[in-house]
Amino acid sequence: MKIICIGRNYAEHVKELHHQVADSGQMPQEPVFFLKPDTAMLRNNDPFYIPPFSEEVHYECELIVRINRVGRCIEERFAHRYYDEVGLGIDFTARDLQRRCIAQGLPWEQAKAFDYSAAISPTFLPLKELGGDVQRLNFELAIDGQIRQQGFTGDMLFPVDRLISHVSKFITLRMGDLLYTGTPVGVGPVERGQNLKATLEGELLLDFDIR
Ligand code: MG
Repeated sequence: MKIICIGRNYAEHVKELHHQVADSGQMPQEPVFFLKPDTAMLRNNDPFYIPPFSEEVHYECELIVRINRVGRCIEERFAHRYYDEVGLGIDFTARDLQRRCIAQGLPWEQAKAFDYSAAISPTFLPLKELGGDVQRLNFELAIDGQIRQQGFTGDMLFPVDRLISHVSKFITLRMGDLLYTGTPVGVGPVERGQNLKATLEGELLLDFDIR
């Protein structure tokens, strides 16, 4: 399986990212994606250990769509047939390394794809149970009880079906692949001792500690 992550998919986050990493700050004309290997998975609400190579690891809470069949060159109008469950994840990002990579025009892998950088909720919910529309979901991240990110999937710059269509032009999607659909505004650094809780439509899916 593979983890496909979408970057810059919420307008307010594109703006805050510009201030954090000094990128172009431009709204993307088409979806931006990158991969994490399966060794990036952090499962079962296990604690996240801040890695020694970064002084500034950020949380990015994201809706995850789990792909349920094989497909390539999927037309946007058929993309809804390729998923029926959603969960939540954290795309942990070594922002200091990413800033350096961007400044040098280099790929971001060391900032994004490191071990345990992709927290995944132990539970995925059938989309049907949530009303059936992947673009009408609310999710929220709280750190030590304080809300830091509140996302509404209707605010995505590129909807899920467009993401699936775009990515599958380049990479075959397989059953079990995970699509991280981008993060809303409010990202920031994590610190040892913090607790992260994330809810999807009020349901607690992520609940783990930073060490
Ligand atoms: Mg992200």
